[in-house]
Amino acid sequence: MQQVSDQLRLEAKKIGFVPTMGFLHKGHLSLISKSKNIADITVVSIFVNPTQFAPNEDFNRYPRDIDSDKKILEELGVDYLFLPSADDIYPFSFQTFVTVEELSKIIEGEYRPTHFKGVTTIVNILFNCVKPHFAIFGQKDAQQAAIIKQMVNDLKMDVVIVVEPMVRESDGLAMSSRNVYLSEEERNSARLLYSSLLTAEKFVQDKEIDPERIKREMKVMLSEDKNIRLDYIKIVNADTFNEALFIEEGNVYYVLIAVRIGKTRLIDNILVRPGR
Ligand code: AMP
Repeated sequence: MQQVSDQLRLEAKKIGFVPTMGFLHKGHLSLISKSKNIADITVVSIFVNPTQFAPNEDFNRYPRDIDSDKKILEELGVDYLFLPSADDIYPFSFQTFVTVEELSKIIEGEYRPTHFKGVTTIVNILFNCVKPHFAIFGQKDAQQAAIIKQMVNDLKMDVVIVVEPMVRESDGLAMSSRNVYLSEEERNSARLLYSSLLTAEKFVQDKEIDPERIKREMKVMLSEDKNIRLDYIKIVNADTFNEALFIEEGNVYYVLIAVRIGKTRLIDNILVRPGR
């Protein structure tokens, strides 16, 4: 991969990179399409990264379908698929990790304390292999994107981070490889996430300034479905990821939500702008 990228750079080609864990869906496809728009060459990686899963999480059962993914990438005209093995990435002697200290501890980090350390480490390794000019991430993992931007900034990494908007199913459920875990009944319950986010957006548009009020209303909505167990609702400044004390015009906020439905953990979010 490094040799390919060196050659592309010699030819003055701009390299766009889309890191994924595979089991591709339309969310991934929108990142790929962005890369094809802004770069000369698009590289997609598929790697289910063990270090971002805690021992109690779903690493072993995470959905994989490499043959179907390859077909999709070929049809899209993606230039390179980077498909390293776990041993390539983490040989027995491996011992170096990259951590964005503060941003990794809050929100998702409270529930998944080792997750973002695994993410920033693998993204670093992948960047060193692919040597991209642009790397495209999804709003689906908004905190992840903020952490990667922080890392790139702090470590003066020579890559532009692009964040693409959320892609949803027709009923509003955020596209995710993990949606296949849901039974029909659970899938139905999952629709409430987006409804609750739309409710939050409406409150903000109607100039509600108190984040606690908005969160309370969302909680009431979600508590009506017995399948849903709430991990958190947070309203944060979209630039800093600090929790908002008030919703102020001129700022942009993320309303972030994480729930468990049966054995499946789902996250979702919406960007909101007061008074618009
Ligand atoms: P994953 O394969 O789940 O690790 O995701 C790979 C990339 O796709 C990440 O940057 C995600 O944020 C992004 N992504 C996943 N789902 C969506 C979605 N529904 N809309 C937009 N981007 C997404």
